[in-house]
Amino acid sequence: MARYTGAVCKLCRREGKKLFLKGERCYTGKCSIERRAYAPGQHGQNVRRKTSEYGLQLRAKQQARRYYGIQEGQFHKYFLIAERKQGVTGENLLRLCESRLDNVVYLLGWANSRAEGRQLVNHGHYLVNGKKVDIPSYLIKAGDTVGIKAKSKESEKIKTVLDVNSARPVPLWLELDREAVLAKVLNMPEREQISVPVEEHLIVEFYSK
Ligand code: SF4
Repeated sequence: MARYTGAVCKLCRREGKKLFLKGERCYTGKCSIERRAYAPGQHGQNVRRKTSEYGLQLRAKQQARRYYGIQEGQFHKYFLIAERKQGVTGENLLRLCESRLDNVVYLLGWANSRAEGRQLVNHGHYLVNGKKVDIPSYLIKAGDTVGIKAKSKESEKIKTVLDVNSARPVPLWLELDREAVLAKVLNMPEREQISVPVEEHLIVEFYSK
C-alpha cells in the first residue's frame, strides 16, 4: 500500500484524536483538531453512527499505524513478531514500534516529528553505537547508544531542530546527554512509558480474527 501523502491533520480529524504528526504545531492552538474537532469532508459534521466492534478494532490499528507512520505490511509483520515473543502481545507490538530508530530520534528531540525523523535517518544523520544507520525501521535495543554524526551537528537544519526541541521532555527509558548530543537506551519501554493513544488489545483482536 502506498504511503499517505495528503494533509496529515486530516488523519487526526478522521480518528478524532491528536496523533502528533506535525511537530511543534501539535502543541499549539494552531492544531487543526483543536479548531475543527470533527471529521474532514462534506459530511464530517454529521452525527456519527455507533461504531461496531470490528470498527473499533480497525480504528485502533489505523491510529497506531498512523501515529508511528508505519505501512500496513510492516505493521502486520510487527504483530506476528510480537505474537511469538513472551509477554503481552499488544505491549510487545507497541514496544517494537517504539524502538524504531525514526521514533527514537523523534523522542530525543532530534526531529520535529516521526515523519521528519524517518527522513533525517534516511539522510544518514544518526549513529547507533558509533556507526551510521540510515534505516528508519532499525530496531534499537537496551544498552545501545544513539548519536548524531559530527558533520551533521554542524548542519543548520539539525541545529535548528535541536534548538526548537531543547525543552521537550525525554521518556525515562532513554538517557540523553544534551551537551554531548548522545543518548543511551536504558531499557526497553514499559507500557506506561509509551504514549500512543490506543488500546492495543483492540489491535490484537483485529489481527486475531
Ligand atoms: Fe494532528 Fe498535529 Fe495536525 Fe493537531 S497539528 S491535527 S495533532 S497533526
